[in-house]
This record gives sequence, structure tokens and C-alpha cells, in this order.
Amino acid sequence: MPRLLAVSKTQTATAVATLAAAGQRAFGENYVQEAQAKIRALADAGLEWHLIGHLQSNKAEVAADLFDWVQTVDRLKLVAALARFRPPHRPPLNVLVQVNIDDEASKHGCAPEQVLELAAAIAQEPRLVLRGLMAIPTPHPDLESRRPAYRDMAVLFDTLVARHSSVDTLSMGMSDDFPLAIAEGATMVRIGTALFGPRAGKP
Ligand SMILES: *Cc1c(COP(=O)(O)O)cnc(C)c1O
Repeated sequence: MPRLLAVSKTQTATAVATLAAAGQRAFGENYVQEAQAKIRALADAGLEWHLIGHLQSNKAEVAADLFDWVQTVDRLKLVAALARFRPPHRPPLNVLVQVNIDDEASKHGCAPEQVLELAAAIAQEPRLVLRGLMAIPTPHPDLESRRPAYRDMAVLFDTLVARHSSVDTLSMGMSDDFPLAIAEGATMVRIGTALFGPRAGKP
């Protein structure tokens, strides 16, 4: 069974608490500042917080303390910063390498060729745990056109699993295509709209 990450960006702490009361434990946020307020408000709820939005280096120090997982690590500089700033009183930070698998327009995510180098750097850091890979493929309206990107991710994931025993997570699939992502090997899906309803404002 894949894990369900509830994507709570733009949602209130109350909405998160409602879902938590129903048994949901893992929540994903895109923006450090927005997450900070929510995580503080729900500090006693025992929730697991994932950063799934792009992380600027100047926010790495805050993110390294705030989150339990960072899914958007895509460059060596960020590996070093997160390792340096993960506070000693917190367990090691769970990290996914974000891969730009097919979206040439996006500047986020590393090239598939860079995955092994980044993964090796993460695996060497005692304050980080390499858990796997994350991708946001091009959102083709035709779902079947997304399948090759998910297949490529699964191949990369298998390569990584063979090299690093800590790797167990392939994060891909959102509200409109999670069955396809699961069919292609996703172990974690990131669902916002299908859980909370449509977001106001930002997509
Ligand atoms: C917003 C977002 C999601 C969730 O999208 P939905 O279509 O609302 O399910 C998943 N992953 C990332 C990286 C996102 O930014």
C-alpha cells in the first residue's frame, strides 16, 4: 500500500486538524513560511511534516528544523546546508532527491544523470537519511502521456534501491493521476485537491 501524503498548502490549521482527527498523519507543505505557522499551531498533534515545494538556500536553516522530510533536494549546496543546520536534538532529516524527469520548462529538480551523485552525498551525511526520489512530471492533459515519465522514475528508483539500503520511497502522483503513478510503482502519493477540495488562489 502506498503512503498518503495530504497536501495542505493554502489550507487552514483547522482543516489539517480535522484530517488528523480522522487518522491522517503525514502532511505536505510548499512554502516554508506558511508551514511554520501551521506546524506551530499543531505542534502537539504528533504529525509528520514534508516540504514538497522548492527550497531556496537561504531558507534551508529554518526548513532543516521545521520539517521531518524534505522532498525537494536537487543540488549539492542544499545537501550541505540541510546537514549543517539539522538541529542535534532532532532525529536525522529524511530526504528525497527531486528529479526533473521530463519537464524542460521547470528549473527545479536535478537531471536524472545527477541522481546518483546527489544520493551519494546525502548518504554520507549523518544528519540526513536518504529515503528516495520525488518527481512532478509535466501535467499532460492526456494521462497516458504521463506514463513514460513515471516509468523512467521507477527505473531510477530501482537503481537507487540497489545501492542504498535506506531507500524506500518513490513519491509521485497527485489528485488527478495517482492511480497511474501507483500502477507504475509510487510508494507515496501527494494528494491535495481530492482530500481538501479545490484550493483558492495559488494552484
Ligand atoms: C500542490 C501539490 C500537490 C497536490 O496537488 P493536488 O493536485 O491538489 O493533489 C502534490 N505535489 C506537489 C509538489 C504540489 O505542489
